Amino acid sequence: MQLEAAPPPNHRATFVKVALPIPIDTLFTYEVPEEFRDRVSIGTRVEVPLGRRIVGGVVFELAAESDYHPTRKIQNTTDVHLNPQLIALARWIASYYGCSRGEAAQACLPPRVTRARRSARLAGKLRLAISVKSVDELERPFSRAAKQLALLKTLFHVGGEAPMETVCGEWGYSRAVVKGLLGKNAVRVVQESRTSPLAGIDREVKELSGPQKTALEALASALASNAFSPFLLHGVTGSGKTEIYLRAIRDVIASGGGCIVLVPEIGLIPQATARYRRVFGDKLAIIHSRLTPVQRLEMWRKIESGECRVVLGPRSAVFSPVRNLRMIVVDEEQDDSYKQEDKPRYHARSVALMRGKFENLTVLLGSATPSAESFFHAGRKRYRRLELPERVGGGAMPRIHLVDMRRESTDGGFFSKTLLDYLEANIKAGGQSIIFLNKRGHARFIQCSACGWVAGCNNCDISLTYHRVGRRARCHFCGFAKTAPSRCETCGSSRLFFSGVGTQRVELDLQGFYPGIGILRMDADTTSGKRGHQRILEEFSTGRYPILIGTQMVTKGHHFPGVSLVGVLHAEEGLNFPDFRSAEKTFQILEQVSGRSGREGKVGEVVIQTFMPDHYLFSFLKRHDYSGFMHEELGIRKQLNYPPFARILLASFSSTNKAALDRVVAGWVREVRRMAAKGKAELLGPSPPLVPRIRNRHREHVLIKGDFTAADKKEMLAVFSKVAAAAPNGRSVELRWDVDPESFF
Ligand code: ADP
Ligand code: ZN
Ligand code: ZN
Repeated sequence: MQLEAAPPPNHRATFVKVALPIPIDTLFTYEVPEEFRDRVSIGTRVEVPLGRRIVGGVVFELAAESDYHPTRKIQNTTDVHLNPQLIALARWIASYYGCSRGEAAQACLPPRVTRARRSARLAGKLRLAISVKSVDELERPFSRAAKQLALLKTLFHVGGEAPMETVCGEWGYSRAVVKGLLGKNAVRVVQESRTSPLAGIDREVKELSGPQKTALEALASALASNAFSPFLLHGVTGSGKTEIYLRAIRDVIASGGGCIVLVPEIGLIPQATARYRRVFGDKLAIIHSRLTPVQRLEMWRKIESGECRVVLGPRSAVFSPVRNLRMIVVDEEQDDSYKQEDKPRYHARSVALMRGKFENLTVLLGSATPSAESFFHAGRKRYRRLELPERVGGGAMPRIHLVDMRRESTDGGFFSKTLLDYLEANIKAGGQSIIFLNKRGHARFIQCSACGWVAGCNNCDISLTYHRVGRRARCHFCGFAKTAPSRCETCGSSRLFFSGVGTQRVELDLQGFYPGIGILRMDADTTSGKRGHQRILEEFSTGRYPILIGTQMVTKGHHFPGVSLVGVLHAEEGLNFPDFRSAEKTFQILEQVSGRSGREGKVGEVVIQTFMPDHYLFSFLKRHDYSGFMHEELGIRKQLNYPPFARILLASFSSTNKAALDRVVAGWVREVRRMAAKGKAELLGPSPPLVPRIRNRHREHVLIKGDFTAADKKEMLAVFSKVAAAAPNGRSVELRWDVDPESFF
């Protein structure tokens, strides 16, 4: 495919057309002062005046004259440059997802840093200087220095050493903590670089399994072909997928290429990244949310210069300007954190595939539970399917016991007798257990038992969540908080109770059943600190706590060798969500959490409690039959005309002015329905979403499904601008335009 036209010979353009990070898809013309003319070409990030502000934009075209008078001048140039391939990608994002080229270009670049302040860094590697057999031995001597202890434990878990950049950047430890440990001679800084880091990979895994070899060979021939080659690697948890990524990347590097590895947001914890670091050493760039803008920019430069050849990061890493990019890996490709919820609302998996097409890459989507979309495309031979059907070393899949809670529920308690029996046996045997509460967050709302009143938010149509700490009632959408009421605000009764299932209640119950037993709890409440999430996982992996209770956070990331029982409470939660993917997502999360039981030789047990045991997903889940489930699921999708059989688009409208909202939505729907009738698209709605009002804004949703082109989408957006401009107070209405939505909230 032909990318950007090469800059004309008169490289020294007098005028440039710049895409700005604003929702208007017009290129703005600026004059290039003589002093900057050598430094400005297509792709250059320039600083330009817009109204009274100075904003960063990207040059999309050069021009010999201006079509706009008076033409303002570029204020400054930067050394940040969007290469032609990424400009092509930004154009595609803008037209596909319905944003401006400037907004798309902005997403492809590192943050704009105006004042680059950098502090002197501690360089080299930090290495444990005390020898311990287990982290428990560190506990006593460092009991009064929690942060130092946490750092030592983390070092221990990643194999004894880590680059200083990782310690202070990714893990977020301050220099003071490092210096404290240096002072105690508990760690030391070493400078030598390892001998051939890439050889280390063979020491850990001597021989690949048959399916691993087949997969790696298929990848090698695709890489050699230099043609766009999409793959779906479907392998159960622990089947050796990561090992394949590592080896394929190693081969790419050996032949002078570079790679991007995308991982879900929550996967960026030391244990998950340590393996990549061990293999690729300083050639690896890890992008994570704790990087400051200055660090992000530095990382971007190291990638662009070719110093770092492998990039590991969440969705935004897909835009990395890797030298001689050959392959993009999308690990856990079904994860919905690949969808960006703010503008531009791109899906990193789709962007990876599109970039692969533009740049002739191998794109490797990997998962234990592939998305329906990828599963379908692999079935249609659009992607090559690679399979790893068994765990490495022949470990058996965990045994799943389904408990019908309609029969076994004990006086409204959380626990069935079956689960309590397994739990008790496991505690006696010295095993660890995970109790997974399939709930988003930990909703506990406050209700009046006399009249049914529920304490709600002042600004949103949602109930307030009760937090035991400080007895506060808080809104999870807008942050509104007040002291928990002691009387009903409608009838005055003091008979208030707490409904909903919360991890806190589960913890209290378990403490009652097993007094004095060590229980860790992981939810939005306990992980709010800077390293809360990581700290809890580390505590649990020491093996000292028999039970970990948690919400979705416990399903991902860390690997716990000691876990031999997983209990799932309210497995059906989410199945009733107004989301056509609810069965798929529920299956994925239950399979994932089951996979945490009994790795390495031991057969794990999984007890799944549900009030909907007849739902089709459970019969497949019991046998770990993902393919069987997917065939059933795809049959339903086809019947209802949902993805992957149709495209969908969610238009959510909102306004503080209800009347204006209704007028604009009605006007828009009328015209778009007429358009859609001509094509093959169908409009569902308008209808109020699950939460009809947030932050005092009323909301309406319209779902469009079927077949539509980029031109259709453009026209639908144009209709909105027209209708909003014409209706009284129409300008108060906002449209959130979400192509291929993952969330229907
Ligand atoms: P996945 O990414 O599918 O969960 P991993 O690649 O992490 O699987 O492999 C699980 C574990 O098995 C890792 O500890 C890995 O080092 C090990 N492993 C992978 N492949 C082999 C192999 N062929 N022989 C022995 N151990 C292996
Ligand atoms: Zn009441
Ligand atoms: Zn609120």
